[in-house]
Amino acid sequence: MVPTTHERYMRRCFDLALLGAGKVSPNPMVGALLEYKGRIIGEGWHRQFGGPHAEVNCIDSVREDDRAFIPHATLYCSLEPCFHYGKTPPCVDLILREKIGNVVIANLDPNPKVAGQSVEKLRAAGVEVIVDVLKEQGAELNRYFFKWIRTGRPYVILKWAQTADGFIGRESERTPISGPAAMHLVHKWRSEVDAILVGTKTALTDNPRLDIRHYFGKTPLRAVLDIAGKIPAGHFLLDDSTPTLVFGKTRAGDFKHTQFTGHKSTIDPEEIAEQIGAKGCAILLVEGGSVLHEQFIGQNAWDEIRILTNKKRLGTGISAPGLPPGAALSESMAIGDDLVEVFRRVTVS
Ligand SMILES: [Zn+2]
Repeated sequence: MVPTTHERYMRRCFDLALLGAGKVSPNPMVGALLEYKGRIIGEGWHRQFGGPHAEVNCIDSVREDDRAFIPHATLYCSLEPCFHYGKTPPCVDLILREKIGNVVIANLDPNPKVAGQSVEKLRAAGVEVIVDVLKEQGAELNRYFFKWIRTGRPYVILKWAQTADGFIGRESERTPISGPAAMHLVHKWRSEVDAILVGTKTALTDNPRLDIRHYFGKTPLRAVLDIAGKIPAGHFLLDDSTPTLVFGKTRAGDFKHTQFTGHKSTIDPEEIAEQIGAKGCAILLVEGGSVLHEQFIGQNAWDEIRILTNKKRLGTGISAPGLPPGAALSESMAIGDDLVEVFRRVTVS
């Protein structure tokens, strides 16, 4: 099907929005552009959490010579402009101040502080507003934010590395599986999420740092299950170097960044997700081990699964979790000796 003019410009907004990937969460990714007589006179996107919104950057980008066209231009926004004072003033007022007469939007903002109010305010002021242009694609783009704002729980990505014969490692022994390029990719993924969770056994066996030392960007919140208080004080996860959430017993010590949360003796993925979501985390990466993965799968508390399969074979060890029903392959690529596969839920949660 040939895309309409509105759809073409909206696709450009999505491309712009994606430039903020990994930098704006738990805010949504947003792109905006101003079109005047078939020419784009301004473009912008939300670049950084807490920074100016897409609409502000878009209007700021217009050249002096083109500024007079702003009131006659059409503003395309991938998400409904904000209505509320957050870290920046409301974009809806900026649009009114600039006297922009036409606005085209992909998605209404599900944030209860916005939720259609900006569209109402614009229409009440006589602005022509079209909504729902490519709204499925827009919702797909901001699936992390939309889930978090609607449910209070983060978008959950389960990730594991396995051998060609289906093992994730040897019992009680740190077993590197992925190649160097795949490891860089995993650190890139970490930089794109708000929190990383591991289980006790993984913490004990691997002594992971859960940092992004092979990439750049923001370090996510570290979260670990330690219900019985088994993790030794010398392990990286208890080094208090960066915000860390421990589901388990409070420890003695002078912790500045580490928070312990008393926990029942069972693992409840939904409850964990809720607590992590309440910390302002919209995307959670669960790195294992297999018990934790199986708990999330068993409770249907996952949104995406990323598997890295290396060519090497172990012959014996801990078996990788089985793929749950409803997981559909959405992407796959080869990186060195690793095959990277991304599975998504076929049904929307
Ligand atoms: Zn805004």
